[in-house]
Amino acid sequence: MRGTAGIDGLVEAAEAGGADSLVGGCGNWDGWMQVALEEAAVAEAHGDVPVGAVVVDGDGRLLARRHNERELLGSPTAHAEMLALADAAKVIGGWRCSGTTLVVTLEPCPMCAGAAVAARVDRVVYGAADPKAGACASLYRICSDPRLNWAPQVVAGVGADKSARLLKAFFASRRGRAGN
Ligand SMILES: [Zn+2]
Repeated sequence: MRGTAGIDGLVEAAEAGGADSLVGGCGNWDGWMQVALEEAAVAEAHGDVPVGAVVVDGDGRLLARRHNERELLGSPTAHAEMLALADAAKVIGGWRCSGTTLVVTLEPCPMCAGAAVAARVDRVVYGAADPKAGACASLYRICSDPRLNWAPQVVAGVGADKSARLLKAFFASRRGRAGN
């Protein structure tokens, strides 16, 4: 239940206003965050933690939309961001995703923040903060570490309430089933 406890912590933090905004006043990402939230909801159908991600290019074109498939695929790397970045690279025709924005419902973990750097995305936009695993602000600042050779802009807290509600409902329903 360790993972569940971790998510509970992040939901509480989000409700307490823990999803601090690193870049304020960026309201243009709400629409794409809504798409990412719709993706997140799909993950629940196969018992995965509801996290969704989209990748859009500089012209506002949707390159990829994926959700967490860790349980579905039995893969520790099948986070929404990893899958979305891989799909976006296929559309682009190469690994380099410069000019794109990764929009994800939950603050990326160290693996996914690292992937965003490796993919050279221009920007990472996320919803709820994750005080137990977040690597863009909460525990690490992988996307703004000057020792690394790429630093995506980070926009935090977009649609954070909706993301946190989705996560909270998911874990509440799992607890309900466990109690029956
Ligand atoms: Zn991740």
